[in-house]
Amino acid sequence: MANKFWSELTHRLTPYVPGEQRHGDKIVKLNTNENPYPPSPRVLEALAAVDGGALRRYPDPESVRLRTALADQHALDVANVFVGNGSDEILGLAFMAFFTAKSAQSTSPPASLQYPELSYSFYPVYCELLDIESCVRPLRDDFSIDMDAFEDNGGGIIFPNPNAPTSLAQSAQSIEALLIRVPNTLVLVDEAYVDFGAQSMVKLVNKYPNLVVSQTFSKSRSLAGMRLGAAYANNQLIEALTRVKNSFNSYPVDAVAQQAGIASISDEAYYQQTLMKVIRTRAETKLALEARGFRVLDSAANFLFVSPADKNACALYEHLNRQGVLVRFWSSASLAQWLRISIGTDEEMQALLKAIDEAEYAI
Ligand SMILES: *Cc1c(COP(=O)(O)O)cnc(C)c1O
Repeated sequence: MANKFWSELTHRLTPYVPGEQRHGDKIVKLNTNENPYPPSPRVLEALAAVDGGALRRYPDPESVRLRTALADQHALDVANVFVGNGSDEILGLAFMAFFTAKSAQSTSPPASLQYPELSYSFYPVYCELLDIESCVRPLRDDFSIDMDAFEDNGGGIIFPNPNAPTSLAQSAQSIEALLIRVPNTLVLVDEAYVDFGAQSMVKLVNKYPNLVVSQTFSKSRSLAGMRLGAAYANNQLIEALTRVKNSFNSYPVDAVAQQAGIASISDEAYYQQTLMKVIRTRAETKLALEARGFRVLDSAANFLFVSPADKNACALYEHLNRQGVLVRFWSSASLAQWLRISIGTDEEMQALLKAIDEAEYAI
């Protein structure tokens, strides 16, 4: 409940609402795009080997070993890599580092941050928190991002690739064309789901001075609970992120997370294996839902964006919820016919299909 000690800003905020974290033996949790498989055994070994006594010390503030491991993985320099406490935190720092608050701009109208109409709902939340002018660009009729709609406005552009919640990927070629067309505008590509089937822009960060790429260990590396994300850009942009980090929290990545991240990166084989499992289950689930009359967009992510035959996503969401199958539903008008369903294990997807078949929605 609001209180007289709240700042004016706190009163105004509409915070991000994460998907429900309900747990229980019978819960089938397909609502927050977590990986259904555990992290690499090497991560578990690294965690078991943590020297608890050493936790009395602060971690390396610049996470150099972890950043070096990431740089080596992408054939970049350590100065091209930034790490943070989840990629959400990196996005917040990036908004501060690259986009100027309305009140601090002399131009009228202020240069805005542009993002697609349907995309990660954290972007407007950061804009409100940081007083950044935003401009929403409509999607094309097929739900793909309309790259031509973005303008070289001297502000910024951000979009997930693949996009969330639509699951659709943009080609690297279309993103490169955009980077060339908007040389005065910073382009932040949020690659939270890129490993599940889109082309990464990471290798191009030294070619395009206006490119920042963010990635996360939460989805493809099964470490959502660890809170670890990375950003890639040319060294001047990484320096901007570092300046903001060191004006806010010098130690965003704890010592345990740094070890876990290094261990995760070292196990490429395990990582590829779990990715392949998710991708196979995604293809099978898409076919099974289409056979039940659903419209399912072509996913390059670890979730499906689906519309049931009767378009009543709300009723299906409530039915599934009662059966203990959690999926994501948004009540806003533009999303009312759609559900976002994370890819779980084969058994979890069977439970989803069984619950769908038990509903009156089955055709
Ligand atoms: C999950 C997600 C993130 C944030 O991931 P973290 O867990 O904070 O690393 C960022 N962007 C998109 C589009 C996401 O779906």
